[in-house]
Amino acid sequence: MATTGVPALGWSACGRTVGRCAGCGQEWPCPDRRRRLLIEYADDRLSLAFYLGLRLADAAADLPGLPADSLHARFLGWARFRPSRSVPGGHQHRGV
Ligand SMILES: [Zn+2]
Repeated sequence: MATTGVPALGWSACGRTVGRCAGCGQEWPCPDRRRRLLIEYADDRLSLAFYLGLRLADAAADLPGLPADSLHARFLGWARFRPSRSVPGGHQHRGV
Protein backbone atom coordinates (compact mmCIF):
# COMPACT_ATOMS: atom_id res chain seq x y z
CA MET A 1 0.00 0.00 0.00
CA ALA A 2 1.23 3.47 -0.79
CA THR A 3 2.56 5.16 2.30
CA THR A 4 4.27 8.24 0.94
CA GLY A 5 3.05 11.61 -0.17
CA VAL A 6 0.04 13.53 0.96
CA PRO A 7 -2.47 11.29 2.69
CA ALA A 8 -5.44 10.87 0.41
CA LEU A 9 -7.52 9.16 3.02
CA GLY A 10 -9.69 11.63 4.88
CA TRP A 11 -12.14 8.90 5.88
CA SER A 12 -14.09 9.85 8.98
CA ALA A 13 -15.02 6.94 11.21
CA CYS A 14 -16.36 8.78 14.18
CA GLY A 15 -19.79 9.76 15.40
CA ARG A 16 -22.20 11.48 13.08
CA THR A 17 -19.56 12.03 10.42
CA VAL A 18 -18.87 8.34 9.80
CA GLY A 19 -18.38 7.70 6.11
CA ARG A 20 -17.89 11.39 5.37
CA CYS A 21 -14.85 13.19 4.08
CA ALA A 22 -12.96 14.71 7.00
CA GLY A 23 -12.08 17.67 4.81
CA CYS A 24 -15.37 18.76 3.27
CA GLY A 25 -18.08 16.62 4.86
CA GLN A 26 -19.33 15.10 1.62
CA GLU A 27 -19.77 11.36 1.24
CA TRP A 28 -16.34 9.74 1.14
CA PRO A 29 -14.63 9.62 -1.30
CA CYS A 30 -15.57 13.12 -2.44
CA PRO A 31 -14.34 14.27 -5.88
CA ASP A 32 -11.16 15.74 -4.38
CA ARG A 33 -10.37 12.53 -2.46
CA ARG A 34 -10.99 10.49 -5.59
CA ARG A 35 -8.57 12.65 -7.54
CA ARG A 36 -5.96 12.40 -4.79
CA LEU A 37 -6.39 8.64 -4.45
CA LEU A 38 -5.89 8.17 -8.20
CA ILE A 39 -2.72 10.24 -8.02
CA GLU A 40 -1.38 8.57 -4.89
CA TYR A 41 -2.05 5.07 -6.21
CA ALA A 42 -1.26 5.78 -9.86
CA ASP A 43 1.38 3.06 -9.93
CA ASP A 44 -0.34 0.62 -7.61
CA ARG A 45 -3.98 0.23 -8.56
CA LEU A 46 -4.19 -3.15 -6.87
CA SER A 47 -3.51 -1.49 -3.52
CA LEU A 48 -6.11 1.16 -4.35
CA ALA A 49 -8.68 -1.57 -5.04
CA PHE A 50 -7.76 -3.26 -1.75
CA TYR A 51 -7.97 0.01 0.18
CA LEU A 52 -11.31 0.97 -1.33
CA GLY A 53 -12.62 -2.52 -0.63
CA LEU A 54 -11.71 -2.08 3.04
CA ARG A 55 -13.50 1.27 3.17
CA LEU A 56 -16.52 -0.33 1.48
CA ALA A 57 -16.56 -3.03 4.16
CA ASP A 58 -16.28 -0.35 6.87
CA ALA A 59 -19.19 1.55 5.34
CA ALA A 60 -21.31 -1.58 5.06
CA ALA A 61 -20.70 -2.28 8.76
CA ASP A 62 -21.01 1.29 10.01
CA LEU A 63 -23.86 2.42 7.77
CA PRO A 64 -26.22 -0.55 7.54
CA GLY A 65 -29.07 -0.18 5.13
CA LEU A 66 -27.09 1.29 2.25
CA PRO A 67 -27.91 -0.70 -0.90
CA ALA A 68 -25.05 -2.86 -2.17
CA ASP A 69 -25.20 -1.34 -5.65
CA SER A 70 -24.81 2.20 -4.35
CA LEU A 71 -21.96 1.11 -2.05
CA HIS A 72 -20.22 -0.43 -5.04
CA ALA A 73 -20.72 2.67 -7.17
CA ARG A 74 -19.54 4.96 -4.41
CA PHE A 75 -16.43 3.05 -3.41
CA LEU A 76 -15.34 1.08 -6.46
CA GLY A 77 -17.36 2.10 -9.49
CA TRP A 78 -15.51 5.35 -10.16
CA ALA A 79 -11.95 3.99 -10.11
CA ARG A 80 -10.18 2.32 -12.99
CA PHE A 81 -8.02 -0.48 -11.71
CA ARG A 82 -6.30 -1.39 -14.95
CA PRO A 83 -4.29 0.87 -17.21
CA SER A 84 -6.28 1.84 -20.27
CA ARG A 85 -5.23 0.10 -23.45
CA SER A 86 -5.89 1.20 -26.94
CA VAL A 87 -7.58 -1.42 -29.06
CA PRO A 88 -6.61 -1.48 -32.72
CA GLY A 89 -9.60 -0.29 -34.67
CA GLY A 90 -11.44 0.43 -31.46
CA HIS A 91 -12.03 3.48 -29.38
CA GLN A 92 -11.64 4.51 -25.78
CA HIS A 93 -14.37 5.84 -23.61
CA ARG A 94 -13.76 9.15 -21.98
CA GLY A 95 -14.67 9.74 -18.36
CA VAL A 96 -16.48 7.19 -16.27
ZN1 LIG B 1 -13.75 16.09 0.66
